[in-house]
Amino acid sequence: MVGGGAAGAAVAILLAEGGVSVDLIDIKPDIGALGSGITLQGNALRVLRRLGIWEQLSEQGYAFDTLGLRAPDPNGTLIAELDDIRTGGADLPATLGMYRPDLARIMLTRAEAVGVKVRFGTTYTVLDQDGDGVSVTFADGTAGRYDLVVGADGIRSWTRRTLGIPLETANVGMGIWRAFTARPESVTRTDLYYGGPSYIAGYCPTGADTLYAYLVEDAQDRSTLTPEQSLDVMRGLAQAYHGPWDDIRATLTDPSRINYTWFESHLLDGPWHRGRVVLIGDAAHACPPTLAQGAAQALEDASVLAELLLRESALGDDLWQEFTGRRYERAKAVVEGSLQLCRWLLAHERGDVPGLMGRISHLLMNPA
Ligand SMILES: Cc1cc2nc3c(=O)[nH]c(=O)nc-3n(C[C@H](O)[C@H](O)[C@H](O)COP(=O)(O)OP(=O)(O)OC[C@H]3O[C@@H](n4cnc5c(N)ncnc54)[C@H](O)[C@@H]3O)c2cc1C
Repeated sequence: MVGGGAAGAAVAILLAEGGVSVDLIDIKPDIGALGSGITLQGNALRVLRRLGIWEQLSEQGYAFDTLGLRAPDPNGTLIAELDDIRTGGADLPATLGMYRPDLARIMLTRAEAVGVKVRFGTTYTVLDQDGDGVSVTFADGTAGRYDLVVGADGIRSWTRRTLGIPLETANVGMGIWRAFTARPESVTRTDLYYGGPSYIAGYCPTGADTLYAYLVEDAQDRSTLTPEQSLDVMRGLAQAYHGPWDDIRATLTDPSRINYTWFESHLLDGPWHRGRVVLIGDAAHACPPTLAQGAAQALEDASVLAELLLRESALGDDLWQEFTGRRYERAKAVVEGSLQLCRWLLAHERGDVPGLMGRISHLLMNPA
């Protein structure tokens, strides 16, 4: 397993539980995950429950079942309260907000507990495959021989490049400010404010005491800003939003908790494997977070791949055809839906946002 993010950790856990010997490497020095919070929708929770970590996640995270739409006016007027569809089934909440490093720690601790050999701070230098297996040379000088290598190494996947697969990652034209901060009592679910100086201003509770808040703007070069300047920009943009945003803005004081990143996207045509190496998660498909589905799709890839590997006795065409059949169109619908929401926002066009969200949610209600 190359990469210990959502995709890699999930497939590693499921395979190890099924009796497969799994090595997982991650180039990061330790478990810490970048960023702040993450919104996990029901279809992601369905996979995470299969990993045997639902209890811990629900203790650490913050569950909710409605989505608020608010106006960018002086009162932050609540325009609508929508019941979120429980895409993971009736016995799981529609949404769970989590602190990303908590999610990463829980998943990788579980991986080690079920026997995955996890190594941080290393990568591979050579992948050499033949009809029987893949010989891997690691950067730390060790080597191994494997039946399958899973490239779950994220949007800039080195494995994708090693396989010689060309794939252009597009800049969507939007950038997002994110802050991880204290949860005021006024925030009990995600509310989205469309319009004002930002395309979207929103927040998601991630635990009893924490949340992440975000503001989406036109993509800009913010790379030269100091952390203090970044904090000033985010606070400045947030001035236009009221209601619970007034309470959140008051907590935005720590420059080290502010992060800025561009929205990017790509979709690799199927199949996602070459011989005995397969790409999953962001390595194969990445979407802007307008539907909050990137990690969910990565987890679904992991779940389907592990199911097929444990069921089939050989890595044959049947397995890969079924994998492509169950994953490609579904991931494509999510990438295209996420991009459509961006296009409407960029064009200041009033698209059928609830219709699109409802269509995707209904698609995702059926297990992958
Ligand atoms: C601003 C933003 C907000 C988002 N919000 C949400 C959200 O709310 N909900 C949601 O579901 N999704 C969200 N996403 C998407 C989500 O973060 C990704 O889809 C998800 O993290 C993909 O998981 P992954 O395991 O495929 O890749 P990653 O999480 O990127 O993990 C890849 C891992 O591979 C490791 N790695 C990389 N290169 C190598 C190498 N050469 N050797 C060894 N290891 C390597 C990395 O260190 C990393 O740990 C968001 C994305 C963005 C940009």
